[in-house]
Amino acid sequence: MPLTAEGVTTTAGGAGRRLPTLIRHLRVLRAAGEAVSSTLDLEQVIERSLEALTRVTGHEISILHLISSDGARLLLRGDRGLSERLRAINGVLPMGAGLIGGVAASGLPRGVQDIARVKDLLPAARDVVAADGIRAFVCVPIRARQRVLGTLSLGRQAPSRFTSAELHLLECVADQIGLALDNARLHSESRRHVEELERGRTATVRAERLSAVDGLAAGVAHEINNPLTIILGQVHVLLQGETPADLSHGLLMIDTAAKRAAKIVKDLRQFAEPNPAHRAPCSVPTEIRSVLAQEGPHLESAHIATQLDLEEVRIIWGDASQLRQVLTHLVDNARHAMAAAHGGGTLRLRLMPLPGGVRIEVADDGPGIAREHLPRIFNPFFTTKGPDEGRGLGLSVAYGIIKEHGGRLWAENVAEGGALFVVELPVSLRRTERSPGG
Ligand code: ADP
Repeated sequence: MPLTAEGVTTTAGGAGRRLPTLIRHLRVLRAAGEAVSSTLDLEQVIERSLEALTRVTGHEISILHLISSDGARLLLRGDRGLSERLRAINGVLPMGAGLIGGVAASGLPRGVQDIARVKDLLPAARDVVAADGIRAFVCVPIRARQRVLGTLSLGRQAPSRFTSAELHLLECVADQIGLALDNARLHSESRRHVEELERGRTATVRAERLSAVDGLAAGVAHEINNPLTIILGQVHVLLQGETPADLSHGLLMIDTAAKRAAKIVKDLRQFAEPNPAHRAPCSVPTEIRSVLAQEGPHLESAHIATQLDLEEVRIIWGDASQLRQVLTHLVDNARHAMAAAHGGGTLRLRLMPLPGGVRIEVADDGPGIAREHLPRIFNPFFTTKGPDEGRGLGLSVAYGIIKEHGGRLWAENVAEGGALFVVELPVSLRRTERSPGG
């Protein structure tokens, strides 16, 4: 193993000293090994390993850096015993420069007897290490799958140099941390795969169920619409003629109830068989701004602040008025949820490009959607609102419109609390879809 032996002695003292040293080293290794095998939490592994290392003689400081994702810098991820000044200097280090940056770039361990005398020490660190009384210093690379991911360093505030056994100990601990980094990466990758599978499965089940509900809703709406038209027509005729006051009062009540039923049927039909979209080139940012201008006074009076983040996107081929209807409904729902939960909040609207499409996000910091309700909120007539507040058709209509546009609409809860509705729309119609009017 290539070592820069400057500052590293090959003996650990007489036989009498060797046994306690060995025991101390084994304890450090055991602490790091236990941390790696007992948790997938990288922070905990780092914390426990660094803590153990500073107990080699009791005069150590330990520092752990990881290479930034762009590979240009080393970021401080943990330390023990560092002064504030030294921590500030170590916060971000350049790759390839200075003692630690050099180890990260070369992948070779390095030990020095007196750090203040090292020529390639970063100028900013020279005075501080001297003032902090740091003398001997060793730094080793942290590797996983042959790649250098960071560095682990140990400094000593005592005149004694590091032994080769101590350098090996540091390398063993660095290997354990490398293992933990790899475990954490594998764990988060497999979690992401499971989540993606779960999302895909839920979306398929929902789409299948909604298409079954589609057919039923279309049939029921059609069947109810005919008798309703007759009732409304006959009431209208009767109200035109000479009718006693009490009878006309009753007729007016029938008229109001029948009109309400007709409105529900109309919404239901729109969900099941959305009006044909009148598609034209449509600027999504313009429609978002228009919805916000119209909703602004309602949001303001409900004490809701708005954050708008609109990236540049392509013009889509869509029905602007239907798109506004969907967005207005999502904004209304978010306002209702936030106002009911805590009398105000923040609405976030984001627009970003997708390959071949656009993505709109409407997020709130309200109570979110109960887990058991999530698979049902797009079903017609599903509502958790009072009888005068909602009929449970808004989201199902919105779903129908977006589907008709060849897009997707779904909801999820955000980790920080609140609900997120996502609309994805293609820029133009996909080949498998009907063209307007066809
Ligand atoms: P309605 O608004 O008439 O209830 P919708 O179809 O628009 O009908 O919504 C169905 C249900 O979805 C709501 O009753 C509510 O439970 C839930 N929901 C919709 N948006 C949100 C939101 N932003 N936060 C929490 N729950 C929501």
